[in-house]
Amino acid sequence: MAFEGLADRLQATMQKIRGKGKVSEADVKAMMREVRLALLEADVNFKVVKQFINKVSERAVGHEVMKSLTPGQQVIKVVKEELTELMGGEESQIATANRPPTVIMMSGLQGAGKTTTTGKLANLLRKKYNRKPLLVAADIYRPAAIKQLETLGKQLDLPVFSMGDKVSPVEIARKAIEKAKEEHNDYVLIDTAGRLHIDGELMNELKEIKEVAKPQEIFLVVDAMTGQDAVNVAQSFNEQLEITGVVLTKLDGDTRGGAALSIRAVTDKPIKFVGMGEKMDALESFHPERMASRILGMGDMLTLIEKAQASVDEEKAKELEQKFRTASFTFDDFLEQLSQVRNMGPLDELIKMMPGANKIKGMNNLQVDEKQIGHVEAIIRSMTTAEKQQPEIINAGRRRRIAKGSGTSVQEVNRLLKQFEEMKKMMKQMTGMQQKGKKKGFKL
Ligand code: GDP
Repeated sequence: MAFEGLADRLQATMQKIRGKGKVSEADVKAMMREVRLALLEADVNFKVVKQFINKVSERAVGHEVMKSLTPGQQVIKVVKEELTELMGGEESQIATANRPPTVIMMSGLQGAGKTTTTGKLANLLRKKYNRKPLLVAADIYRPAAIKQLETLGKQLDLPVFSMGDKVSPVEIARKAIEKAKEEHNDYVLIDTAGRLHIDGELMNELKEIKEVAKPQEIFLVVDAMTGQDAVNVAQSFNEQLEITGVVLTKLDGDTRGGAALSIRAVTDKPIKFVGMGEKMDALESFHPERMASRILGMGDMLTLIEKAQASVDEEKAKELEQKFRTASFTFDDFLEQLSQVRNMGPLDELIKMMPGANKIKGMNNLQVDEKQIGHVEAIIRSMTTAEKQQPEIINAGRRRRIAKGSGTSVQEVNRLLKQFEEMKKMMKQMTGMQQKGKKKGFKL
């Protein structure tokens, strides 16, 4: 997971101060030394680290913390707020032109993920914001770039504008915008050329496209795995092209996080989106506060909830809730729920968003075995309707039959039955707690 080392170190440091009823200046100093090292090791720009430490130290020894009843926790709060600020504070929105189409120019070095991100962004604009984007293939130099965008367009069922590789990118951009007006496309996403390194020729071409296309947004796509290089690239692009935002890709990899934490401070341009995988739905809006929360082990329940909302059928969720309450949850429901959870994405990624998940022993290197989930499904599918509804009738003979039918073992069947029983018990307790909570008047 991205940020793993940083998260571990910061959390260990925070742990030492969390419960303290009194925090001295020396405590803060000692803590800041550790935080400083953790950030430097995560490849955060050294100037950024210095500023960050100064800000946090100043606030931590200040009035608001020392005089509070829970100074340990207050210090952590300060660290979280400043981390959030470092990454840009508020989530930034995507611009919209007064008169459509809104033009977004995608720029970046080769291999950063520009073409993939262009596809992902178009997909997001359509799915989340109900927009009608037009993709424009203006990278005429990389041999496969036009084809790659066309393939993505087909896959997403979105239109792609291309004029082959013999027409200048500036002309392609101009024609594409005309076309978008005719076809009532409200967003135009221009995939521009990349290079292995920044060079003058590339920058001139991008400037010319900018001149003609008058984009509302110029996004720079950078690869999070390249750390400080990504920050340097962002700085140069920004100086020459005045970008409006950054898309940080490959945050699903094990990047140390330096780029995410430095880019905003160095360029003063926000990270707008992050790439979390190769698939077309793996682009997320960047939320500084949620990211800070994740780094400090406070979890990212909001993203988790959003993912759940996007993949869970509301009617079914209500039905399930009712079943939890009346304890009439069956194996059929279990199967249904399993498939809904799987729709949300890889399970190990989801688990890591839960608060404190990384503190549970073994959770960090937890590999959710998708094969095992397949076994669970096979076992349930081998049950008869009566068995699914009343698991208590599943005796030894039935267990053998189910194991055989699902190609698993009796031990696996036993384990699942036991887990199911425990889960039902837990649900009962939880709904009990919820009822009590409601009576007392607080929300869960
Ligand atoms: P371009 O040269 O900048 O247009 O780069 P591409 O869009 O062709 O992407 C280069 C490689 O990075 C491809 O193999 C993509 O699948 C991969 N890629 C892009 N974004 C992400 C991401 O967010 N996560 C991961 N894991 N891979 C990505």
